[in-house]
Amino acid sequence: MTTSENEPSSSKDVEVNQESGCLVCTALKRFQSDCVQTLSDRKPQSLCSVHTWLIAKSADAETSADTLLCILDQALEGKSYGVNCEICSWVEQREQAESGEFIKSLQNPGFQTWFREHGGLCIPHARKVFDRVPTNLREIIVSPIKRDTRVLKANLIALLESTRAGMQTHPGILGRVAEHLVGKRGLQIR
Ligand SMILES: [Zn+2]
Ligand SMILES: [Zn+2]
Repeated sequence: MTTSENEPSSSKDVEVNQESGCLVCTALKRFQSDCVQTLSDRKPQSLCSVHTWLIAKSADAETSADTLLCILDQALEGKSYGVNCEICSWVEQREQAESGEFIKSLQNPGFQTWFREHGGLCIPHARKVFDRVPTNLREIIVSPIKRDTRVLKANLIALLESTRAGMQTHPGILGRVAEHLVGKRGLQIR
């Protein structure tokens, strides 16, 4: 089998630079990847679908086999397989910490200026941070999100028009929109 059932083969370019975009997502992707690389130190007992696949795909073969064997035993014993994924909960804890760091940085006028200009939060993380920042800083979160949304919307409309005119170029715009809407690919943001 060459393609996964969930990812039909497609010529669409959805790749997005992993080091750009949402600051919180970028930190979480790095953390998640470290979690998968250090599974021999702490072994999860329960995994969701996304993290089961991530381990199968990204951890070294010995660690993958050892971890999945343990999860398989848990599943056979009817333990809470698939719910209460431990990697999800590690990532969620880290998300709290990273959001806290971001909020601390947002008190800094230099960072405020930089953030107004560059943006750097996906919609889910903007929502989460918005709820935690003092009221006077909320506008700094909202204005880059609104601007990015307007730009992406204009790009999507242009893409739609060019595909309707028979042109088949997809310069990464669909991936950028997806990332803006739900966070970086491969993360489970709730
Ligand atoms: Zn994000
Ligand atoms: Zn998970």
